[in-house]
Amino acid sequence: MRVAVGSIWHESNTFSPIKTDLKCFQEYELLLDNHIIDYHRGRKNTEMRGIFEITENRHIEIIPTVSASAIPSGPVTTTTFKFLERNLLQRIQKIRGQIEGVLLVLHGAMVTEDLDDPEGYLLHRTREIVGNTVPIGATLDHHANVSRKMVENADFLIGYRTHPHVDQGEVGQQAAKIMSFLIKNKVKPVMKMRKLPALLPGESSVEARSRLVERIKELEKREGILSASFFIGYSLADIKEVGPCVIVVTKQDSQLAEFEANSFAQLMWDLRNEFALKTLTVSEGINQTLATSGGPILFVDTGDCFWSGGGGDVPFFLHSFIKKGVKNAVIAVIVDPKAVDECIEAEVGGQLTVSLGGKIDWINARPIVVTGTVKAISQGKYWGQDFQFTEKQIDMGPTAVLDVKGIEVVITSKRASIHDPAMLGSLNIEPKDRKIIVLKDGLLNLVSYKSIAKETIFFNSPGLANWDYCKRSYKKIPRPIFPLDPLSLAFSNSGNQKAS
Ligand SMILES: [Zn+2]
Repeated sequence: MRVAVGSIWHESNTFSPIKTDLKCFQEYELLLDNHIIDYHRGRKNTEMRGIFEITENRHIEIIPTVSASAIPSGPVTTTTFKFLERNLLQRIQKIRGQIEGVLLVLHGAMVTEDLDDPEGYLLHRTREIVGNTVPIGATLDHHANVSRKMVENADFLIGYRTHPHVDQGEVGQQAAKIMSFLIKNKVKPVMKMRKLPALLPGESSVEARSRLVERIKELEKREGILSASFFIGYSLADIKEVGPCVIVVTKQDSQLAEFEANSFAQLMWDLRNEFALKTLTVSEGINQTLATSGGPILFVDTGDCFWSGGGGDVPFFLHSFIKKGVKNAVIAVIVDPKAVDECIEAEVGGQLTVSLGGKIDWINARPIVVTGTVKAISQGKYWGQDFQFTEKQIDMGPTAVLDVKGIEVVITSKRASIHDPAMLGSLNIEPKDRKIIVLKDGLLNLVSYKSIAKETIFFNSPGLANWDYCKRSYKKIPRPIFPLDPLSLAFSNSGNQKAS
């Protein structure tokens, strides 16, 4: 049994001015052929690793093609997408006739300069190459904007159930098990998707989602059901097929898939008001923190979070802390390569006045001019130790720590993962000794800082990832849509749902 595997993974914020080019993939992950196996065997908790664990066990031969991912940012450039597409499809073309299945690791919320649904396009092209009898399956991020084209051209799509995403390995394993079942039993499964007319916040409440995860567990115990998934969607993409959906895949029973997809979609629709996280204003957050003994209190700067498509250089909290006289705080991070160069020039212990931030996300921020003392300079490389990046070396580019009136500002040269406490450790900052740590992060810290943080406060702060969708000027999304328009009818009668 032979299965081709490949991955093109990106979450594209169409409101972001940051172009996603080949360098963005080269800096995060761009691997070809057997390098994919070598790399992911050494990683923990990736979809590829999960796929390899099952296929090795079942003596299924894997034919690796391309594995490419980049940190969320603006749309992928056409030349970059064509390069990645060519590398994936030419390899599948070459082994067509020798493979019995194709497993792809996709995000599901990629947009390119030319395509609003590149994953639908990739699955369609893959289907054209391998034909109707070879099963195609794909894993998707929890924030996928699943399209009809994706559903029409894949035999099954399966998403993460967790946020923070900690189940990539399990989802990879489940996808490989389904693929092996389909090939062995020559089953053509039935997949039904129901899309909800909604824009939901990317950082969503654990409680609301746990009701949906419970439903998945119930459904997947049922005879005849291969998998069930729900997707929160990615609302920062101004595209026609934006938004959440549910998917049910059955072995062969179309009625069962249809019925359960409708019922699951209704449950998600009924919860639509409960996904929003509780947030505070910056003044409320500071007051609450100052009234609390001990620390650290995490301030989650969700509006400028990289992993939701934020720029990473909005100096909103630095500005607010200076104004309010907050001390013993760490800002992790502000991305500003020019400011890092100036800190390097000033050397450790040197004082300088620098213009910080507001250059990448020039839409939501202006640079702030501050005077501080350079506390540390590093190459900006550290080994991830948390759940997601274990055994991966993170490269933030040359990095400096600037002390501005008792606020340590970590200035990096690149947008890179910063939610691992090992990052601060690599700069000799002991998180436990600080009162406030600002992380440009979403829910990830709930796992990575679990044993360290005294409390976590979320802020719907200014930035490219801010989820105040009513203030964004969408042009392509379908209307009416929750919460921008009144939609009071029950989901199943609303006439707004889209069936696969
Ligand atoms: Zn996600």
